[in-house]
Amino acid sequence: MQLLHYLLFSFTSIHEYQEALKEGSYSCRDAVIFYLERIHRLSYLNAFAHLYEKESLQTADKLDADHSAGIMPGRLHGVVIGIKDVICYRDHPVTAGSHILEGFHSLYSATVVEHLIREGAIIIGHLNCDEFAMGSSNENSIYGRVKNALDPEKVPGGSSGGSAVAVQASLCMLSLGSDTGGSVRQPADFCGVIGLKPTYGRISRYGLIAYASSFDQIGLFARNIKDISLVLEIIAGFDPKDSTSSRRPVPSYAERLRLNAQGLTQNAERSTVIGQPSSYKIAVLKEALEHPSLDPEIRSKLRDFIGDLRLKGYQVKEISFDLLDYIVPAYYILTTAEASSNLSRFDGVRYGHRTKVPDAGFPEFYQETRSEGFGKEVKRRILLGTFVLSSGYYEAYFSKAQKVRRILTERTRLIFNEFDIILSPTAPSTAFKSGEKTSDPVAMYLADLYTVYANLVGIPGISLPLFTHTNGMPFGIQAMTNQFRELSLLQFSEELLQQYKSYEIPTL
Ligand code: GLN
Repeated sequence: MQLLHYLLFSFTSIHEYQEALKEGSYSCRDAVIFYLERIHRLSYLNAFAHLYEKESLQTADKLDADHSAGIMPGRLHGVVIGIKDVICYRDHPVTAGSHILEGFHSLYSATVVEHLIREGAIIIGHLNCDEFAMGSSNENSIYGRVKNALDPEKVPGGSSGGSAVAVQASLCMLSLGSDTGGSVRQPADFCGVIGLKPTYGRISRYGLIAYASSFDQIGLFARNIKDISLVLEIIAGFDPKDSTSSRRPVPSYAERLRLNAQGLTQNAERSTVIGQPSSYKIAVLKEALEHPSLDPEIRSKLRDFIGDLRLKGYQVKEISFDLLDYIVPAYYILTTAEASSNLSRFDGVRYGHRTKVPDAGFPEFYQETRSEGFGKEVKRRILLGTFVLSSGYYEAYFSKAQKVRRILTERTRLIFNEFDIILSPTAPSTAFKSGEKTSDPVAMYLADLYTVYANLVGIPGISLPLFTHTNGMPFGIQAMTNQFRELSLLQFSEELLQQYKSYEIPTL
């Protein structure tokens, strides 16, 4: 009886699930058992780095007991969430998918984790990712590669591949990743789920292992906009422990969306009511659609889509954006420079792996520890970053890339003076075969063409799974708004998902 009960888990949103909890027809324990059974059955996907099986069941029992005792439930009561292996959770392992942090346990929790737990979420485990969040395919991890549940031969995207697959394969309700140059949006695109990277500074980075601090932002994966909105409003906001977090008030995204859907209110950022062609002005970057690396089928589907948006009454204009070719080089110069500095703390003295080479003195001790501890891609980036910061090359590379970043920011400001939304592909292709790009790092980097822009200029971006390729894999579109316009972004996304059938993930 119990077995049948949890196998029937069929809630499509947090709200629906919590209604069943309220009624007593379902329990948090049922939900955890449901997910654990799937995690074990689909363990070949390799989505988890660390699974907290016993603890999740205990937390579920405590939440169920609180509910029976009439204790006011938190807004995420019983919501089963997975977090990327770069987000600290006190007394739990966190390794950033790297040998250098093997065996390390966090001494404190990230602010996002504190928020989730305070609201009654159940953290079911840490999710596999590319080492130090560097990668686009989740093939660089000490835990091995993550497989795309739709085709295990294919990559799930990266670096938050485990977080994307966990939602894709229903191994948890919602997951957190990090996005420095697309690591939430691109794997969401490859896996057929929704991925949101908020504005830089919207969510505290305290407790997020840094890759490139002026780009990093925690992001969310889910299957619907309502769940993303609810969790976003809980984890966003100013944090005295992160001086780059914004003091801007956080709107009640979920409530605003709900009222808007009923036509009861209007978006303060733009006047729109969900379900009717909105008054958003949409810009499409011409060079993005025409780029030679874009898969021709994705191009033609997006062109049809844009045509259809116009027919539906949307104002869409193609604008020229001649800076596209500078974006990837600027991103890789600036992020590797920041990474070379951020990763210098992993020295074998304070935490993590320490060389066993006997009598290693100074500087051999550091050299050995770091050579043994870091993987190939991380070493490549530390070297590249050190190079672009070195005297003689600083002006030629680092300063130039900073200038590109400033020009991009300026150009973006002009675009948003006229438009509310920028639409582009999320990635130039659908999920590729594992091993296809591992021997050619530049080809891998170029595939970040459409996502790194939002990180360079600090704006929010979302990937929406709207299409299916004839190769059977999903792909989406990326929508971006001006900074701190997440409400518009979420409302626009909900509008699109209501009008266009979202990609449907087959039952696994
Ligand atoms: N694929 C990009 C990179 O390898 C993005 C990584 C990220 O967003 N963490 O840098």
